[in-house]
Amino acid sequence: MSEATLRSERTRVRRQPTRGVYDRDSVYAVLDRALFGHVAFVDGGQPFCIPMLQARVVAAVYVHGSSASRTIRTLAAGVSACLTVTLLDGLVLARSAFEHSANYRSAAVLGRFEVVEDETDRLAAFESFTNKLLPGRWNEVRGPNQKELKATTILRMAITEASVKTRTGPPSDDDSDDAALDIWAGVLPIVTSFAAPEPSPGLRDGIRLSPSAHGLLAADAARAVLDRNRGGSRSTSH
Ligand SMILES: Cc1cc2nc3c(=O)[nH]c(=O)nc-3n(C[C@H](O)[C@H](O)[C@H](O)COP(=O)(O)OP(=O)(O)OC[C@H]3O[C@@H](n4cnc5c(N)ncnc54)[C@H](O)[C@@H]3O)c2cc1C
Repeated sequence: MSEATLRSERTRVRRQPTRGVYDRDSVYAVLDRALFGHVAFVDGGQPFCIPMLQARVVAAVYVHGSSASRTIRTLAAGVSACLTVTLLDGLVLARSAFEHSANYRSAAVLGRFEVVEDETDRLAAFESFTNKLLPGRWNEVRGPNQKELKATTILRMAITEASVKTRTGPPSDDDSDDAALDIWAGVLPIVTSFAAPEPSPGLRDGIRLSPSAHGLLAADAARAVLDRNRGGSRSTSH
């Protein structure tokens, strides 16, 4: 798909336009990296913005929830919606208060959700949500039964109108008069990480941590070593 496909007058980034991109790969990369997003919609004239897990499959983004939920029922009716995800990459610390900023990658997708009715598609969406939380988890757990499937509504929004906005790099005052000030300036990268697993109180003795969780923790530890080795020279560009 061409870049023009996802760019529209509504998604064109006006402030700092060079930070906006509209190609599918960039939008998919941000959606895939973020576990959850905020879904905005208007209900009864009142805007709401509700955090929800999200998963992208091919050219659509999926959300799910209780069939009784207000958010789900409103979105299922096909109202106009906006799903935004944000990845916070670093604190940008300048010499002046004015130039302080944040490094980030965020994506906004506009459209309308539709209810996924097909049972095969619904099951595939469940699998995507589960594996998005923890890659490989779907094959380790009991799948949803009929009652659970019935209690859950799965919604899909085709990705046809979207934008990504990104900020990377150091503060903007290296070339200003403020560079003469004796004030530290630079970026504090933000790294999200996992801590030691906390077994469920009801977990029976002798049940070991699942391979999927082991895999995630091992990948996380390897990334932490890489980050440590990079030390202060760690780049903030992505
Ligand atoms: C990271 C994250 C992921 C989530 N993932 C999902 C998901 O995948 N599916 C899902 O159904 N729900 C999810 N939730 C819960 C979701 O945010 C809503 O609470 C839930 O969907 C019920 O929404 P509702 O509009 O039906 O609730 P209602 O109870 O009808 O909402 C009424 C009011 O309660 C307040 N409210 C509701 N939810 C929140 C909230 N999260 N934070 C603060 N105030 C709130 C708002 O003022 C709202 O207008 C998630 C929450 C978080 C934080």
